Amino acid sequence: MEINTFCPSCGNGIFLKAMPSAGSIPCTRCDKSRETTGNGELDEKGALKRCGICGCKDLYRQKDFNTKLGLWVVAVIIGLALIFNNYLIPILVAGAVLDLILYFALGDIVICYQCRAIYRGMPISEKVEGFDLKIHDQYEFKPKKSEDTKEPS
Ligand SMILES: [Zn+2]
Ligand SMILES: [Zn+2]
Repeated sequence: MEINTFCPSCGNGIFLKAMPSAGSIPCTRCDKSRETTGNGELDEKGALKRCGICGCKDLYRQKDFNTKLGLWVVAVIIGLALIFNNYLIPILVAGAVLDLILYFALGDIVICYQCRAIYRGMPISEKVEGFDLKIHDQYEFKPKKSEDTKEPS
């Protein structure tokens, strides 16, 4: 399991190997820290039910697609296509196939709507669906104060 969150003050990435306990994770770049509720929950299959950082139960899934890698692949394909002009179509087809392979080879990640923590390398419950703008907006436009408080379950 890998949890990827960030410093609320400077945005520096914070990586965790396990569900955090209540407290705070110090930022390695500035003197602030990311508060954690420590009330993360997993279901019987080990899939995430509740975010361990903020305690939120609204989660969505997404392909673990590294944008930088994707852009790099596209740049190489365009470069090759320009150099080997005669093979333009085969190179573009190969590029499309490569993209497709990458897409299916990549696993899903789970993301918390409230604190945007990313959870990787663990089973995903079928109850966790794709991104829903309506749920996102509920978190985006509500007052921020509840982010670090523990809510009773
Ligand atoms: Zn920081
Ligand atoms: Zn969260």
